Amino acid sequence: MNINEILQQKLDSRMHAIKAADERSAQLRLEIPEIAAIDNDLHTVSIRIMKAALDGRDELDERITAIKNENDSLLLKRASVLEQHGYSADYDSPVFTCVSCSDTGYVGLNFCECIKKAYNNDRYTTSGLGRALYGKDFNNFSLKYYSGKGSIGISDLENMTMIVNQSKRYAQSFSPESESVLMIGGTGLGKTHLSAAIAKEVLSKGFFVYYDSAQSIFDTYESVRFGKESRESAKKYENCDLLIIDDLGAECLTQYTIAVFSSLLNWRITNRKQTIISTNFTPQQIKKSYGERIYSRLMGEFLIMKFTGQDVRLLKLSEKTKV
Ligand SMILES: [Zn+2]
Repeated sequence: MNINEILQQKLDSRMHAIKAADERSAQLRLEIPEIAAIDNDLHTVSIRIMKAALDGRDELDERITAIKNENDSLLLKRASVLEQHGYSADYDSPVFTCVSCSDTGYVGLNFCECIKKAYNNDRYTTSGLGRALYGKDFNNFSLKYYSGKGSIGISDLENMTMIVNQSKRYAQSFSPESESVLMIGGTGLGKTHLSAAIAKEVLSKGFFVYYDSAQSIFDTYESVRFGKESRESAKKYENCDLLIIDDLGAECLTQYTIAVFSSLLNWRITNRKQTIISTNFTPQQIKKSYGERIYSRLMGEFLIMKFTGQDVRLLKLSEKTKV
């Protein structure tokens, strides 16, 4: 959805709220004659203010204040009549989804926060990140589970602290000049969490990000190949500014997927578009499964982040069962 469609949706919800409130008012006037009388008086107030203005400037402020006071006391009376009949005083006030802008979409001349939020959420869902990954950001990435000695000369904590900082810098300074990234390491070491965190931040900077599993990407190309889906459905993998391929190596591998992967990588590299790939495979397994050419592209042209530690999901699980 573009911003106009989101604004229109807000205005539709405003109209809907006003219409529903009008219906409640009409119901109240039918049910409680006293309310009908008060509403009649209230309707005359604006007419009387206009009339007061036409009657000349003499003591205009005083006359208008008097009418407004009368208006206020009518509103108070209306509220107490409603309460006597078991209704809340705001029973027939419109209920807007956003109290800041009353669903107009604007606060003053600026877009209301609710519009910005809806716009970002919409971009988020069309990015493939979806609900499962929504909460994964840099703020809730915990380093407390990385306590091992490490396997590459530094402790897991030191290594992961470095990777988190590297990822933050990457997301903050993302541009068409950025490198592509290969996240390597076993299951449950936070690769998905950190790539989702990068995606979220890069998205919020206005870039077109697409997140998907390797399996689902290759399935899409397979469907396009057999005419089950249009060529358009694969375009997002090629055209987005940042493509995140999750869990490479978990897909079922064929000569066709290797060819698709190779040409997708080439196309993106040639067109200076960034890709983040996460995989449980070791470099040797990558070489064995995808061949020398893909292997050397990844090793030579991607920034390598080597995740270390113990499976965080298992550690969290054992923490829960201890209690
Ligand atoms: Zn609002």
